[in-house]
Amino acid sequence: METHLAIQRTFFNTQATKDISFRIAQLDKLNKLLKDNEQLLYDAIYKDFKKSEFDTYTSELSLIYHDIKDAKNNLKSWARNERKPTNIINWPASSYVQKDPLGVCLIIGAWNYPYQLSFAPAVAALAAGNTVILKPSELPLNTSNVMAKLVNGAFNPEIFKVVEGGVPETTELLAQNFDKIFFTGSTKVGKIVYQAAAKNLIPVTLELGGKSPAFITKDCNLKMTAKRLVWAKFLNAGQTCIAPDYVLVDKCIENEFLQAVTAEIEKEQFSFHNHNYVQIINNANFERLKAMIPDQKVFFGGETKASDRYIAPTILHNITFEDACMQEEIFGPILPVISYDNLDDAIVEVQKFPKALSAYVFTSSSSIRKKVFNTLSFGGGMVNDAVMHITNSNLPFGGVGNSGIGSYHGEAGFNCFSHRKSIIKKGTWLELPLKYFPHSSSRLKWIKRFLKL
Ligand code: NAD
Repeated sequence: METHLAIQRTFFNTQATKDISFRIAQLDKLNKLLKDNEQLLYDAIYKDFKKSEFDTYTSELSLIYHDIKDAKNNLKSWARNERKPTNIINWPASSYVQKDPLGVCLIIGAWNYPYQLSFAPAVAALAAGNTVILKPSELPLNTSNVMAKLVNGAFNPEIFKVVEGGVPETTELLAQNFDKIFFTGSTKVGKIVYQAAAKNLIPVTLELGGKSPAFITKDCNLKMTAKRLVWAKFLNAGQTCIAPDYVLVDKCIENEFLQAVTAEIEKEQFSFHNHNYVQIINNANFERLKAMIPDQKVFFGGETKASDRYIAPTILHNITFEDACMQEEIFGPILPVISYDNLDDAIVEVQKFPKALSAYVFTSSSSIRKKVFNTLSFGGGMVNDAVMHITNSNLPFGGVGNSGIGSYHGEAGFNCFSHRKSIIKKGTWLELPLKYFPHSSSRLKWIKRFLKL
C-alpha cells in the first residue's frame, strides 16, 4: 500500500496533473474504457446480485458517463481562479481563490451501486487534478475484480490504481498518509475511517446512510405518489442509500395509500427472473432483513427464499417506532408504514432519529413542504418524488451529521477534491505607513477611520 501511494505522490509532484488537458485525457480514457467493456461490467454485476443491464445502465453507468461529460464541459470554468474583492487595508492589490488538487486520494466504495459509487468520485478526483487509489467494496466480488482488471490494465498506476480487498486491506490503506479520503458506506465504518484520517489530519468526505423518511399527506396525488414511491423503494431491492426507509402517512388516507402501493407493486411484477429485481447482496443481509418482517404486520409480500437471497417487496403496517425495522437503516425491500394523526407529532418522532441522508414529502401543500423541510435537518430530498434528486448534478449530494460529511457531484465534486487556496497579489508602488512603528494615537485614529468598524 505504501508503495502504491509513494509512486502516485512522486508522479503528483511532477505537476503533470495540473494541466487541464491531461485531466481531460484521463476522463476520456475512463469513458472509453467503460464503454468498450460494458458487457463485462453487465456480466460481472449480474453474477454478483442479478442486477440487470437495464438497471446497471440507468442507475450506474449513465450517471458515470454524465459526470465525465459534465466535468469535461465545465472543467475550465470550475478550475479558473475566482476573483474576490480586496479589503481596503491591502490596497493596492487583487485577490483570488486558486483551486489546487489535493494530491493522492483514497476512494473507498460501497457495494450497493458498485460502479457508480467507485467511479463517480474517481471522476471528480481526476477532474480536479488528483491521482486516485480506489478500493471498491469486496462484497460484489465480480464487479470488484472487473474494475481492477479494467483500470489497472488501462491506466498508469501513477495516476489511477484499483486496490482490491476487505477489512484488512482497507485498514492498511487507512494507515497511509493520503491527501484526501473519500468514503461511501455505513455510519459505523464511517467513524472508523474518520478516526484513521484524524491521525494524519487527512480531509475526508463521508457519504453515509441512515433512515430516510417519506411523509405522505392527505392532499397528495395518491396514484402518482404510489407509483414513484414503489419505484424508489424497490429499485435495487431497496438497497439504495437514499431509498425511502419508512413511510409516515396521514391516518385518514392510510387505507387508500396501502391499496395504491399494493396495486403498484403488483403492476410491476417484481421478479429477478424477468430481470427487474435484484438479489439481496449476501446471506448475512438476507438474514438481517428477514428478521425485520413480523408475520402479523405484513400487509403485502413477506415471502423469502434463502437459496435465491430473495425477499419479496414487502409492506408492513401497524408499525410503531418500537418495531425492529425502526431500530436501524433497513437497506432492503421492506417498507414500514406508520400512520399519524398530527403531522407535527410525526415530525417530532423523526427528529429523534439521527439526521437522515434524505427526506421526502408527497404533498400539494407548500406550507407542509416548508414545515417539514425547515424543521428537519437531512442531506437532501424531494417533493412528490424520491431518489431522483441524485441525477441532478447541479445539486451537491451528501449527508449531514450521522449521514455524512461533505458532498459531491458536478462542481461540488470538483470542490470536494480541491483546496481553495486564497491569494492576494499586491502592488509595490504604494505602502501606507499606518501599521508600522512608531505607533501613535494619530495613526490609530487613521486606522479606525479606514476600518470603519
Ligand atoms: P460498509 O461500511 O460495510 O462498507 C463500505 C466500505 O468499507 C467497503 O469498501 C468495505 O470494504 C469497507 N469496510 C468495511 N468494514 C471496514 C472496517 N472495519 N474497516 C475499514 N474498512 C471497512 O458499507 P456497505 O455495506 O458497503 O454499504 C451500505 C451502507 O452504505 C449503508 O449504510 C448505505 O446507506 C451507505 N451508502 C451510502 C451512500 C451515500 O452516497 N451516502 C451510498 C451507498 C451506500
